[in-house]
Amino acid sequence: MAREGQPGTSMDLDSLYRDIILDHYKHPQGKTPIEDADASVEGFNPLCGDEVELCIKLSDDGGVDKARVAVQGCTICSASGSIMYELICGSSRENLDDLLSSFRAMMHGGPEAASDRAMGDLRALQGVSKFPVRIKCAMLPWTTLEEALSEARGR
Ligand code: ZN
Repeated sequence: MAREGQPGTSMDLDSLYRDIILDHYKHPQGKTPIEDADASVEGFNPLCGDEVELCIKLSDDGGVDKARVAVQGCTICSASGSIMYELICGSSRENLDDLLSSFRAMMHGGPEAASDRAMGDLRALQGVSKFPVRIKCAMLPWTTLEEALSEARGR
């Protein structure tokens, strides 16, 4: 029986995205402890049991110089934390703000955010927006980041 769709259709994209997510889950980035962190914050998602430990060191302009991200949680939360680590280290304050608002827009189903190249592997999490209970899993590292940023900048 002939299958609908040709190479490059959304079906292939789905499996590509699944591979990206699983790869980050199996090989999470950012677990190495950092010295002289400006803020250490823990986030918790009681709906799923996800836990995020985040330490950041600010750059001179209020962006992130270094970070440590350690997630104990589901695939979505772990992948989101690992991808976040890759995107935020060395990121300027302006880029961070853009990233946060683009990701939030994507989680609320905004299609234009998902085509934003600056989002990198984060675009692989677009499908999560269709599952409201999982949005909190994907968002947890990012809401923890917002908390850490305001704590670090408030010093
Ligand atoms: Zn979760």
